[in-house]
Amino acid sequence: MSPQSSPAADALLHRALQHVEDWEQSWGAFDRHDALGVDPDRLDAAFDEYLERLEGNYPFHHPRYAGQMLKPPHPVACAAYAAAQRINPNNHALDGGSPTSQMEKEVVADLAGMLGLPDASLGHLTGGGTVANLEALWVARELHPDQAVAVADNAHYTHGRMGDVLDVEVVPVPADAHGRIDLDALDRVLEQHAIGTVVLTAGTTGLGTVDPIHDAIPLCRAHDARVHVDGAYGGFFRLLTEPDAPDIPNFPAERFRAIEDADSVAIDPHKHGLQPYGCGCILFRDPAVGRFYQHDSPYTYFTSDDLHLGEISLECSRAGAAAGALWCTLKALPLKPDDGLGPILAACMRAARTWTDAVADTDALHVVAPPETDIVSYVPATSESSLSAVHEASQALFDAAMNDPDDPIFTSVYRLSADALTTLRPSLHADRDEAAVLRSVLMKPEHETYAPDLVDRLANKAQSLDSAAP
Ligand SMILES: *Cc1c(COP(=O)(O)O)cnc(C)c1O
Repeated sequence: MSPQSSPAADALLHRALQHVEDWEQSWGAFDRHDALGVDPDRLDAAFDEYLERLEGNYPFHHPRYAGQMLKPPHPVACAAYAAAQRINPNNHALDGGSPTSQMEKEVVADLAGMLGLPDASLGHLTGGGTVANLEALWVARELHPDQAVAVADNAHYTHGRMGDVLDVEVVPVPADAHGRIDLDALDRVLEQHAIGTVVLTAGTTGLGTVDPIHDAIPLCRAHDARVHVDGAYGGFFRLLTEPDAPDIPNFPAERFRAIEDADSVAIDPHKHGLQPYGCGCILFRDPAVGRFYQHDSPYTYFTSDDLHLGEISLECSRAGAAAGALWCTLKALPLKPDDGLGPILAACMRAARTWTDAVADTDALHVVAPPETDIVSYVPATSESSLSAVHEASQALFDAAMNDPDDPIFTSVYRLSADALTTLRPSLHADRDEAAVLRSVLMKPEHETYAPDLVDRLANKAQSLDSAAP
């Protein structure tokens, strides 16, 4: 465990850029073309406007932002990205950036190891989870061209959309009230349809729930169906299933562990891997699926004889800086349960449990469902009569908290179906088909410390809304 202080972002960035500058100089001086010059006044004005416009963002870095899946990258990732970005290698081919291509192979192997996949697994980084899942469904189609893909209602909407893109039939599977795939329904779908691949989710984008992967996989195998696990959000939490991981109450370890039996896995280092956007990853258990990617590019490759990443990726140009930043981050903050990334992930998990306990302790808010990962759901307590009351009170608290000029707190709203909500809170009268509840993504480790205070402040806001109500 490391009580070290966070690295100074500016010093790292300066070191990174200075090093690249020196390296550039070592190739010899040359004259920059005049056309690249910029009028200093115009540059100044552009930067003034640019920097000011960036202030229009929500404060993603701050504990008071607990809205969507957003946070700045780690300072190590920022500096490492900046260094490689200045050189701008392209991991499409080894010739486009041999060092960062090698780093990509190393981090992909590290991610496969963390997910429990075999050493021989095939994988590469992608622009994000969307492309990673697209490649998984594309391989699913190539392997079973005449069969459908089963996708549960709790899965990310990208799967349905990519089914359209790929012209693959997508058979929906109902989710249960907890937002996990319904295994009885899955069994029926596998009985009644020709399903080639089933998509399971490890950490839903909605409430961070984890499908019963350990029970679903044997079911799929019994019907000769492949399994793709979408771990874009939650995949990194598998690290916490290792023996040295801190103990987390209500952690679905068995479900995360079972990811190791999947045929393919998508995981997003730009969500829980401390990276800037533009860093997803797809992994395949069977490296032989690489044959589907084969192509004969006339443009690239003239010196490299190793397997080119560009030959096993649907995307052509890809930022070498994304691979470099992830590599450097995982060297500094390794994929270990008790050092590096593990304690960060564990703090986020604990933050969600602390948040939920604090909600249970106030009279002003009620828990909707206990968290499985680091996303929490709650509603104003005064709304506990009907779905429309829940909907309106949640929406009102969301707006009021965000727009409080003195002490804004950023949450999000998430729509739950009437079925799910009335199962979770049976006292509710179902007078609508769905209702908004409050949702907070606690993906910064600081949320562990700040959770009780944030809940207190939200509870106060809920109370003053309630007393202001007619
Ligand atoms: C975020 C997310 C996606 C989409 O990934 P992008 O990186 O946003 O393209 C897919 N599935 C899940 C479960 C996600 O959380």
